[in-house]
Amino acid sequence: MEQFQSFPKFIKKIDDYGMKVGIVKVIPPPEWTTALPDVAEKLRSIRIRQPIVQHINGSQGVFSQTNIEKQRSYSLPQWRKVTEESDHQPPARRGERRKGADSKLRLSPQKRQRTMSSVADSSAESTQGSDIPQKSKRRNGELSAQESAEFENFDYRFNASEFTPERCEELERIYWKTITYNNPMYGADMLGSLFTDATKEWNVAHLDNVLNDLGMDLPGVNTAYLYFGMWKSTFSWHVEDMDLYSINYLHFGAPKQWYSISQKDEKRFFNIMRSEWPDEYKKCKEFLRHKTFLVSPKYLADHGIKVNKLVHNQGEFVITFPFGYHSGYNLGYNCAESVNFATERWLQIGARAKKCKCVSDAVDIDVEDLAYKLKMKKRLARRIKREMEEKQNDGAIAAATSQEGMSGDSSCQNSLPKSNGSPFLGMASNVLNGVEPGSGTPVVQPAIVRNEKQRLPAGISDTEPLQDVSNSSTIGIVDR
Ligand SMILES: [Zn+2]
Repeated sequence: MEQFQSFPKFIKKIDDYGMKVGIVKVIPPPEWTTALPDVAEKLRSIRIRQPIVQHINGSQGVFSQTNIEKQRSYSLPQWRKVTEESDHQPPARRGERRKGADSKLRLSPQKRQRTMSSVADSSAESTQGSDIPQKSKRRNGELSAQESAEFENFDYRFNASEFTPERCEELERIYWKTITYNNPMYGADMLGSLFTDATKEWNVAHLDNVLNDLGMDLPGVNTAYLYFGMWKSTFSWHVEDMDLYSINYLHFGAPKQWYSISQKDEKRFFNIMRSEWPDEYKKCKEFLRHKTFLVSPKYLADHGIKVNKLVHNQGEFVITFPFGYHSGYNLGYNCAESVNFATERWLQIGARAKKCKCVSDAVDIDVEDLAYKLKMKKRLARRIKREMEEKQNDGAIAAATSQEGMSGDSSCQNSLPKSNGSPFLGMASNVLNGVEPGSGTPVVQPAIVRNEKQRLPAGISDTEPLQDVSNSSTIGIVDR
């Protein structure tokens, strides 16, 4: 729990390891987990809008993925029901019956076809004969009578005890054998969070990291996304936009299988993928950022690339590191939350990140501008620290620390005060972030740097010369 107090410090400790292997699993301490508020109430208002239906084509370990949006939305009970249909269940263990199988047996062939071809019908059918108008308009966030009824006997929680290591290995073999057979749905990239403000550290939606200083919200990059999975729903090989880090918390449900490529094999891996999809590479040099291409661990082993693996269970975190290609799939009904983040070390990486230009909403971060803001924030922090030390020397420190609400660990230590722990820094970052948050454009405007000098906060003296940030060499100035 002590290690969990500071997210940036924790990442710093595991950074060298993560930068070698690509992904790291972190199991939170029980004190952190038991303090999480119940998510049941939040889940009532969740709508899984237009999930993607994933079509995977290919053979012999080489596949590509096509996503087609399903034109309907699901409440969580509806989603769970779909994940329990026999088409979306893995084969049972020997001697057991597949989930959802026995309800299917009772249906006549015509009826079965109708339900399977259009999942959307299931809710409509259940309202037939009742007096609920099917197109009743729902007021803001209010559940219809039918939806309320769905939640009455609904427990979002999931008993994952069947997912023993042996069972997960068995399912891995089945996944790669039958990957093209059914078309799983994935409620991916849904803006939202199941965390509340009660969780101070390792809150995926409010992670203490340098992307908070962007001064704007980039959905899924510095604001959290939710992911609703089912058996076989897949994320193909990719690295993060701008070669950022990412963190993924599995709130509940079946495990996620993850694969990663060690950073030392990054180039060789890329070249193998490029030789499999030469046309895609010709069209876009960053074609793996399209998250469309899938090769099996066996195929990669046959090509001399070792694949790192882990099984991500509910209540656990997985962190991905820059340049670590990763992919994976869900083993059943589950819900995860993830976001990108960055460290100061990343600033150098981000400045050189290659971007896919063919996707119109591709993420672009003005790294120079961010580095500049961080530098100013640090300068302010140093100045505050210096002034406090001077005051301390004058014997006048007592009033400043106790009255200004500097919280315990952030006062006058060698490390920087936490950005959300210090009123001074909170002010600094607001002033330095010249852009209104939530402006919605996924491209950071570079212009704000130029006027920064005129809007210096009171804490920064004008006597220290401001660096010109128009050349990238200033990024190196940001001190560690
Ligand atoms: Zn592209």
